[in-house]
Amino acid sequence: MKIYNTLSRRKDEFVPLEPGKVKMYVCGPTVYNLIHIGNARPMIIFDTVRRYFEYKGYEVNFVSNFTDVDDKIIKKALEEHVESDVISKRYIEECKKDMEGMNVRPATKHPLATEEIFGMLEMIQTLIDKGHAYAAKDGTVYFRVKSFKDYGKLSHKNLDELQSGFREIKVTGEEGKEDPNDFVLWKPKKEGEPYWESAWCKGRPGWHIECSVMAKRYLGDQIDIHAGGEDLIFPHHENEIAQSEAANEKPFATYWMHNGFLTIDSQKMSKSLNNFFTVREIAEKYDLQVLRFFMLSAHYRSPLNFSEDLMEASKNGLDRILTAIERLGELEAKKGENAQTGEGTMKNEEAQAIKALQELTAKFEAAMEDDFNTADAVAALFEMVKLANISAKEESSALFVHTLKEEICRLCDVMGILTERKKEMLDEEIEQMIADRQQARKNKDFAQADAIRAKLSAMGIILEDTREGVKWKRA
Ligand code: AMP
Ligand code: ZN
Repeated sequence: MKIYNTLSRRKDEFVPLEPGKVKMYVCGPTVYNLIHIGNARPMIIFDTVRRYFEYKGYEVNFVSNFTDVDDKIIKKALEEHVESDVISKRYIEECKKDMEGMNVRPATKHPLATEEIFGMLEMIQTLIDKGHAYAAKDGTVYFRVKSFKDYGKLSHKNLDELQSGFREIKVTGEEGKEDPNDFVLWKPKKEGEPYWESAWCKGRPGWHIECSVMAKRYLGDQIDIHAGGEDLIFPHHENEIAQSEAANEKPFATYWMHNGFLTIDSQKMSKSLNNFFTVREIAEKYDLQVLRFFMLSAHYRSPLNFSEDLMEASKNGLDRILTAIERLGELEAKKGENAQTGEGTMKNEEAQAIKALQELTAKFEAAMEDDFNTADAVAALFEMVKLANISAKEESSALFVHTLKEEICRLCDVMGILTERKKEMLDEEIEQMIADRQQARKNKDFAQADAIRAKLSAMGIILEDTREGVKWKRA
């Protein structure tokens, strides 16, 4: 299996640290808002990578954090006059709902930054003891970048280049830095911010340290794969390498995988540019399986431009697969009991078709093993659907129909594509949920009311509050 490794800048053969096991860490979102579909890209991609390893028989330990202490979370908490954990808890729950809708499996462990402070204090102290970090007068602790000779190896930047970029920049509050490249490990609290006691000052961690600590705690000093969006290469992942390797004195991750950006009108989709769609907004219009299928239709390292046209094409593509599976299911059902167990004998031309089927499975695997080329893997899946549509007939043997259906479903499962259409909700069920929401609002239980609205929206039901009451429609 070959993986493009940002560290080596080429496709490297995958060799796990421990045979049969994969230790994988994916940087997760900062939870101060609903996730947008850009954030959904790494979730879907690396969930698919995990599924493929499992399909190949590996045991995958998959860790992905939630950054739950951050300036943006604090700002939102101040705006809403609540504690910052009210904000982070709310958006972690919302994120988990979106993940479920996209059929992204929960990680083996989702650590929270605020629950790992002790480990961060410990690693920062180790870095100070080893001469890789220092505390400034105001209690800020910085990583001493010059002390780590490999700094820049991931982003392929050299220190002199970085130095000249920083030349004239003086950041207020960072006067205690020995060198402009040094980055924060721990910083003093400001008024109204959450803080923790430490040997240096009452304060909170810098962003980078959490991932080094969580990876160490849940996966060990050395891991196989570290992943995230390409914007994280520098400085986040470069700094993670510096912290982990300086503290643990071992190479950190063997493979560094980075997804390309999801763009809109060929511009980077981001919260700061305000040109994003939340996953929730997309769920009002499409089944989130369509979003998943859309993401898989391109290679994960390429930029991917979001458009209605491509979403419609994905919807149709997915529909073609599900219709073929349904038809095979109907044929199978007609053939009675034998089909369930897959018993029976195949005819000669069926055996030929099965051979073609096996070749397509091999094609699918070859695509996935060439740096997870999901676009080609999906193409192989479409060829399989075509084969099934042509060769499965009323007179086909039970075993043949069964084999076709099972194989298509098996490969869909590797890609995280659900093979059963979601049951349409009945009008009465929807109306009952709307009534429950009204009741929750009357009781001033707005969290519950929002949760019901979100659940309906994830199922493609759009609510509109009008003067005559609540109206609803299907997306
Ligand atoms: P953030 O909450 O900004 O830290 O982002 C969480 C994850 O989403 C990181 O791995 C980012 O690299 C990734 N990400 C953010 N925006 C995009 C985008 N437009 N396209 C692809 N990945 C993104
Ligand atoms: Zn990280």
